[in-house]
Amino acid sequence: MAKHTPMMEQYLRIKAEHKDAFLFFRLGDFYELFYDDAIQAARELEITLTKRDSGKAKPIPMCGVPYHSADNYIKILIDKGYKVAICEQVEDPKTAKGVVKREVIQLITPGTVMEKNMLNEKENNYIASLSHFDSSYVLVYSDLSTGENQIAVFEHGWDSVIHELYNQPIKEVVVSSQLPEELQKQLKMRLQVTLSYQDEVNFNGEYRHLCENLHDERLLTAFSRLLNYIQHTQKRSLDHMQQAKIIELKNYLSLDMFSKRNLELTETLIKKERYGSLLWVLDKTVTAMGARMLKKWLERPLLNPTQMEERLEVVDGFYRQFMERDVLRETLKSVYDLERLAGRVAFGNVNARDLQQLKKSLQKIPEIRVLLQQFAQKEIQQLADQFQVSPEIVDLLEASIADDPPLSIKEGDIIKDGYNEQLDTYRDASRNGKQWIAELEQKEKQETNIKSLKIGYNRVFGYYIEVTKANLHLLPEGRYERKQTLTNAERFVTPELKEKEQLILEAEEKSVELEYQLFIEIRDRIKEYIPELQRLAEEVSYVDVLQGFATVSEANNYVRPTFDEEHLFIKQSRHPVIEQVMDDGSFVPNDIELDHNKHILLITGPNMSGKSTYMRQLALTVIMGQIGCFVPCESAQLLVFDQIFTRIGAADDLVAGQSTFMVEMLEANHAITNATDRSLILFDEIGRGTSTYDGMALAQAIIEYIHNHIHAKTLFSTHYHELTDLEKTLPNLRNIHVRAEEHEGNVVFLHQIKEGPADQSYGIHVAKLADLPQTLISRAGKILAELEGKEQKNKQQEVAATTEQTAQLSFFVEDSKEKKEPSTSKLEAIVVKELKELDLFGMTPIDAMNELYRLQKKARKS
Ligand code: ADP
Ligand code: MG
Repeated sequence: MAKHTPMMEQYLRIKAEHKDAFLFFRLGDFYELFYDDAIQAARELEITLTKRDSGKAKPIPMCGVPYHSADNYIKILIDKGYKVAICEQVEDPKTAKGVVKREVIQLITPGTVMEKNMLNEKENNYIASLSHFDSSYVLVYSDLSTGENQIAVFEHGWDSVIHELYNQPIKEVVVSSQLPEELQKQLKMRLQVTLSYQDEVNFNGEYRHLCENLHDERLLTAFSRLLNYIQHTQKRSLDHMQQAKIIELKNYLSLDMFSKRNLELTETLIKKERYGSLLWVLDKTVTAMGARMLKKWLERPLLNPTQMEERLEVVDGFYRQFMERDVLRETLKSVYDLERLAGRVAFGNVNARDLQQLKKSLQKIPEIRVLLQQFAQKEIQQLADQFQVSPEIVDLLEASIADDPPLSIKEGDIIKDGYNEQLDTYRDASRNGKQWIAELEQKEKQETNIKSLKIGYNRVFGYYIEVTKANLHLLPEGRYERKQTLTNAERFVTPELKEKEQLILEAEEKSVELEYQLFIEIRDRIKEYIPELQRLAEEVSYVDVLQGFATVSEANNYVRPTFDEEHLFIKQSRHPVIEQVMDDGSFVPNDIELDHNKHILLITGPNMSGKSTYMRQLALTVIMGQIGCFVPCESAQLLVFDQIFTRIGAADDLVAGQSTFMVEMLEANHAITNATDRSLILFDEIGRGTSTYDGMALAQAIIEYIHNHIHAKTLFSTHYHELTDLEKTLPNLRNIHVRAEEHEGNVVFLHQIKEGPADQSYGIHVAKLADLPQTLISRAGKILAELEGKEQKNKQQEVAATTEQTAQLSFFVEDSKEKKEPSTSKLEAIVVKELKELDLFGMTPIDAMNELYRLQKKARKS
């Protein structure tokens, strides 16, 4: 093997310790990457790949990014789930003997980023650790930017862990290297989180006190795994880390990952955007902290009615006094992100502007207290009492940090005059010196009579007197010493000027140094207040989320729900998101009623009539109620649900590649095995992903099972008209349908929910809407009539034993008035053949439309 240069040997040695990260190796003003790192980074970052030692037989692939713009490149890699190890020169190259010593000073990973520009301010950024015990798993997650730690035990198997990980904004999971391969693979492939390893689960570090509230050995192990990893990668102060809050999962409404996704709680299903999600509608918070808390609440709705009522009371109070609420909102807007500011104080990466923001935010706290006291609601008055801030910290910041400081903390101008005597002396010296120079300029102008004479400064020559060439003849010989010649001017100095310069520069250098020291001292003193800042952040967020609920409730006409043990009744319920994207008033509200005698609603109705919308609006209303928000309807008496399950049939599940029947059945199974009589199940056209009879048989069996064994409240929409007969045999099932009307041969959707089954499915009308030629439609009608006849016969033979006999397949209605036969050209025969082969039940309405359009085009050619 060719021998490497000492520097490359150093590189290889360090790289060997950071195999799973891009190693950013500092060389002068650049971070360089080598070998495979370089090849991959060049591709991911779209930068040029070059070679080192290109003259040699085996040049080394290399690429680099400038040190000052590295952040942007690091962000790209982190966003893609990679890790970046920052390797710096840790001794001065000027004094180093041999190769400059280098060390990895920080490992930046998706779960540990702290830099402002890499974080979404409205979202937490979690790193989790997962530990496996005999019959349980423990998950700890930590947001390094806020110092928040949560810990939860999962006693019901791996599946629930996956659901939890999916539902939280977790970017990275730290596991034991012993975690079974199969599970590791699932984490990587299904959840697309970055995996990291830490096997050391004893924790004796500096932050031992963080574990004091954990008495269960499993929790200690799990938390230690995470803390060890964080310490190992971050190598800096973690003073803002809080003790882990133990999350009792049984105290929260559990939403499986399918529900969170299908209900579009925090992002939309396909585009993964906030716009169009429930969060988008509900988020009327005005602080980043509030936005994060709201998202957390949506991910974990409550189960305890007392807690819900507590929130609702506050919302009610804010709702009633809208003028005071408006002022409160305005005031909250000037509170910066206290939580993340506290994190950066601990981490040591705050600047003077951050502390300025901190000061302004803290100064708002007493104002907020006064505002809250103006609300009549008792609960709000109590909240007001929490808005207390230690005067020392505000006084300290007020006295010390300059009003408009620069970004850098190493160039001075960050500390106020009068804060430190020594600093004032230096500043006086420098100011006096400058004053003296200004006076000198005036004096010299007068004495030499050169109006354009001026005194300037540059870094290389210091202070100088400048005289233009045109005026040089006015200058008495020997008055100044010549220093520098420019094209149009000469620059001079005098011994006195140099002397003053010396004093000024010395004073400035010393004062900049002192300012930096003072700043670090101030920062360290603020560190002691981190718990207080974190508590205040929590109070501000809480008020912010609830004023947001009041604001959205007023804007969108929501009402305060009540909770009942048995009977759910939502009068004139609306879909909170769809009503927002439709024209005002065009959303059609509908009642929803469920109780123990009526716990399954079987919903039929034509495609596009509003079945899915109706089901979802129930789930969304339930969730809104259980996070303590008002709900979209005229009045609501809700039940407290322990879990929500949803399954959307294959035909509606637009996420490519996931619409297999198997997935559908897995999800149905997940619901059926976990639901209780206090759960809510939404099955939207389940059984669509397979052939008609299979699907129908399974759908029926599922309904019967829920009805007889689980008693969960269930909304089941179906295009299998035959299932509506179940009402005769299942006493707690009711048929409802979405009304549509035929108007001049076209279907008109009324979006109104009515009792009883739908009478027909209007499939043929959708075809008419597509403007197919009459001949084709009537031919299609005939073919389908034949098909139905045939299927009818098969069906009688195959499933007579299990399904009650029904008139016909529901999707198409025979239209016997159309008698005209199509011509029998060859092309038409092909069209008909293709039409016959269409799997209508396996298609989305849009696909069906496209397919019809294509067939029509073909048919018109005949
Ligand atoms: P289905 O599930 O029956 O095929 P959807 O629930 O997907 O129908 O609704 C189709 C479209 O109809 C929705 O995207 C919406 O635009 C509209 N819609 C549904 N329900 C209503 C309603 N209650 N009021 C007004 N428009 C509605
Ligand atoms: Mg639907």
